Amino acid sequence: MPDRSVPDVDRAAAARRAVERRRARASLKRDLTMRVVSPQSVAEKAFADADSVAGSMRITDFLLALPAIGIGKRDRILQELDISPVKRLGGLGVRQRASLSQWLDARFPLNEARAGRSRLLVLAGPTAVGKGTVAAHIRATHPEIHLSVSATTRAARPGEIDGVHYYFVDDAEFDRLIADGELLEYAVVHNRARYGTPRAPIDAALAEGKTVLLEIDLQGSRQVRASEPSATLIFLLPPSWDELVDRLVGRGTEDAEERARRLRTAKVELAAQNEFDFHIVNEDVAAAAREVVELSEATAR
Ligand code: 5GP
Repeated sequence: MPDRSVPDVDRAAAARRAVERRRARASLKRDLTMRVVSPQSVAEKAFADADSVAGSMRITDFLLALPAIGIGKRDRILQELDISPVKRLGGLGVRQRASLSQWLDARFPLNEARAGRSRLLVLAGPTAVGKGTVAAHIRATHPEIHLSVSATTRAARPGEIDGVHYYFVDDAEFDRLIADGELLEYAVVHNRARYGTPRAPIDAALAEGKTVLLEIDLQGSRQVRASEPSATLIFLLPPSWDELVDRLVGRGTEDAEERARRLRTAKVELAAQNEFDFHIVNEDVAAAAREVVELSEATAR
């Protein structure tokens, strides 16, 4: 006999809420695994509100979702921190919170923005996060910022203009640009085409006192950091891993195999985000673009 003391509608609503919460927890776990969010920020949310999605996550699930932590390691960590495996993040005591935070900071050090930034800005981030859209928005609303035009060996897409979106060049011309030292950085992206940043227009814009923005991939960002250590590196993050997958599927420009490949690259790129000076979550294009511009103003000297 079913229990009739709770009306069916309430029971159904409660069951729906439970399913939604489980789904939200699963999504948060993916964000941790893919490093879309830092473990410290999840712990902070859980400590601030035990009823939040983060707060309701089991400590065992939280630790397992962290990069490179398996069951054996998880259990050793729990012992070391003197935390019972049945605990939820929001239910940790004061001492446990402190020891967990300390452990997280040691294991996943947060990047501190370095002093001495220059007006050379690099915008990177995983596939489909919206780098191109944010850069296009800045181009439209802030003509005073010099947006670098890259050279590429890939074919122009419909609507793309040579010299505006890219300089479309063949392999021989790209080789020449490299040989003559005309590129500040270059890389093969998505195992497909070559892309590179022409050096001369950037030097000229910087000499004129302008802010310069490069929208390039992780390999290129690393090269810029190596050759111009004072460059400001900005990493654009999706609001969540699920959102990133939705955006990639939603734009419908890649087939399933290509999407899988880009998601693998995205995972690698997200794992490198600590190499960057600043992180901006691309929830809304205009807001993200504004944050980039504000950073450029803050760093301009
Ligand atoms: P798309 O082919 O979709 O325009 O660009 C593909 C990827 O190439 C994007 O992730 C973009 O950031 C990257 N990219 C564009 N220009 C450059 C460049 O000059 N250098 C490097 N390293 N990557 C670039």
